[in-house]
Amino acid sequence: MTVTFPDITPDLKAAMPELRGRLLANQSLAELTWFRVGGPAQVLFTPADEDDLAYFLKHLPQELPVYVVGVGSNLIVRDGGMPGVVIRLAPRAFGETSAAGDVVTAGAAALDKRVAETAAAASIGGMEFFFGIPGTVGGALRMNAGANGGETKDVLVEASGVGRDGTKHTFGNAEMKFVYRNSGVDPSIIFTSARFRGTITDAGAIRARMNEVQTHRETAQPIREKTGGSTFKNPPGNSAWKLIDAAGCRGLKVGGAQVSEMHCNFLINTGNATGHDIETLGETVRDRVKQTSGIELHWEIKRIGMTEGEQ
Ligand SMILES: Cc1cc2nc3c(=O)[nH]c(=O)nc-3n(C[C@H](O)[C@H](O)[C@H](O)COP(=O)(O)OP(=O)(O)OC[C@H]3O[C@@H](n4cnc5c(N)ncnc54)[C@H](O)[C@@H]3O)c2cc1C
Repeated sequence: MTVTFPDITPDLKAAMPELRGRLLANQSLAELTWFRVGGPAQVLFTPADEDDLAYFLKHLPQELPVYVVGVGSNLIVRDGGMPGVVIRLAPRAFGETSAAGDVVTAGAAALDKRVAETAAAASIGGMEFFFGIPGTVGGALRMNAGANGGETKDVLVEASGVGRDGTKHTFGNAEMKFVYRNSGVDPSIIFTSARFRGTITDAGAIRARMNEVQTHRETAQPIREKTGGSTFKNPPGNSAWKLIDAAGCRGLKVGGAQVSEMHCNFLINTGNATGHDIETLGETVRDRVKQTSGIELHWEIKRIGMTEGEQ
């Protein structure tokens, strides 16, 4: 079944004569995520720049829900799609990176990999871990993304963003209220840029570390599959993948979704999975782990939108 929402873009355009960004109705979100599943966004908005984003949010009717996506490397979009507005920051307007001294400045749509490369080119060490994370800076700020012994919290100086009412804000590291794979900042904040501080280091050592990060990925994770990375957070003092393996879930399938044989905290769309298949597989894994170990796994991947038929 194809999901279609009422087209509200003519009303939004009429109410926002100075809007410069792009508004599209009923845009498929599957292509905007790594899993390649899910229904459409009622409205997809691509702001022209930060002022345009602020103008849009200020004039958008309060009752309309808003959700921002990066490159969808940590998202399951449900098959019934997303009512309201999904915002995507384009790299053209929000993807710049630059380095000065020991600080890297990056737009929220810049890929984490690019942050690592910008740091390396300026001999700034400490950001090599970003090289292996396939998301954007915006996603890293929201998720406190981390890997290979480093996380966003370790290097962030400050992040800038826009609130639901269109007001611009800046958050210092402590104000980001980072915890394991999350930030406590108001979930309606849309981050637009960040500044990260590292340590001036030998460029060769930085490159060697980035190569290590890359090799680790290639050998330990199904990075060329349609996946969402680690599905569940590691419970304190334990590893999600070990619990999943012990529960006999390695390779388990639901429809077109499968628990990766290579790394069993990764779920994979083997080709024709729906959002429902992937979410059901994840919930099945949670149940089995609970039964075998008594431990409750918590989703790290964000599940968004409505199930089919819910509209
Ligand atoms: C193969 C693979 C390997 C991975 N390995 C790791 C890893 O080692 N470590 C790790 O931490 N993660 C890993 N991930 C998960 C994922 O890459 C990270 O969570 C990443 O930070 C998500 O960024 P994104 O741009 O894709 O965000 P999305 O998946 O699009 O969104 C994730 C969350 O961030 C929010 N968000 C996105 N942009 C913004 C913004 N501008 N302002 C406010 N909120 C925003 C979204 O609303 C959503 O809540 C992996 C994923 C894959 C597919």
